Amino acid sequence: MPGIGERLLYRLAKRWIAGYTLDDAITVAKETNRRKIRVIINRLGEHTPDPKRIEEYTEEYLKIIDLLQSNNIDGTISVKPSQLGLASDVPQYKKNLMRILESADKTDRDVWVDMENSPYTESTIQVYRELFEDHNRTGICLQANLKRTEKDLKSILAIGGRVRLVKGAYPESREISFKGAEIEANYLRLLKLLFQEGNQFVVGTHDTKLVAEAERLNMEDKRTFEFEMLKGIRDDLKDRLVSSGHQVGEYIPYGPEWYNYSKRRVRERKRNILLLLRSLTG
Ligand SMILES: Cc1cc2nc3c(=O)[nH]c(=O)nc-3n(C[C@H](O)[C@H](O)[C@H](O)COP(=O)(O)OP(=O)(O)OC[C@H]3O[C@@H](n4cnc5c(N)ncnc54)[C@H](O)[C@@H]3O)c2cc1C
Repeated sequence: MPGIGERLLYRLAKRWIAGYTLDDAITVAKETNRRKIRVIINRLGEHTPDPKRIEEYTEEYLKIIDLLQSNNIDGTISVKPSQLGLASDVPQYKKNLMRILESADKTDRDVWVDMENSPYTESTIQVYRELFEDHNRTGICLQANLKRTEKDLKSILAIGGRVRLVKGAYPESREISFKGAEIEANYLRLLKLLFQEGNQFVVGTHDTKLVAEAERLNMEDKRTFEFEMLKGIRDDLKDRLVSSGHQVGEYIPYGPEWYNYSKRRVRERKRNILLLLRSLTG
């Protein structure tokens, strides 16, 4: 039984996650589809070295794909590499991801690979490149806060890969990462590259200025791309983009491991600390 602190914190976290179970995720996915927004479902949890847990996560992603199909849901999944074994056994990770990609292929669904903190960047990209050869609808997330990303983006665009561009959610050292306004400037640079050379990419941000810039670039040079935002953030903007005729996706996490994910969302948005305090007292 969770303690009172955890229960109260969960009340705040609930705006960003579907709930504890896969059923919760499917219920939220249907509601999201009704708003003409595609869903990207993620099972929370990361960095596990336990082979049994890794196998369970893999099975669960296969189950999500089945349920998306049987419930006729417009959407797909996004996986965290360290859930599937990247942190402990790269060949096993590759096998697990391949199983998921093969299953997704059968139901004509793309699969997205999240990007975690910098110790995993190289191996995440390496395995993506290897699997992309046979699964060319697979996409990968790249983070504008990392200095290496421009080079990575160019190398992925060169093989025709698909990219979800985000600012980056993990604190990284000054040596390898941009800070503050530099992140936004790099995002804009990378966004231009996507509009020049990318196809079927994802603009993953809630930042009004970056969204407006993507809309402007698209007026100049029409591309197939999707705006994606996280569950519980900027619903107004999602609805506005849908009514302007854009493809919009919502990233919907679920699972009992909601705490770390919610901490990242709080860190991004100080106002959420006030919401947290209100939820603890209200
Ligand atoms: C679809 C998707 C997938 C992602 N996948 C990854 C991934 O694989 N790896 C990774 O490192 N990161 C990922 N992220 C997270 C991303 O890196 C950023 O941490 C996150 O999107 C916040 O950055 P921002 O671009 O929205 O800009 P910010 O500068 O953080 O926010 C811009 C504006 O959005 C609103 N906003 C932002 N956050 C919140 C919030 N928590 N609550 C309320 N309002 C808010 C505010 O109006 C704010 O001014 C993903 C994000 C999205 C949208």
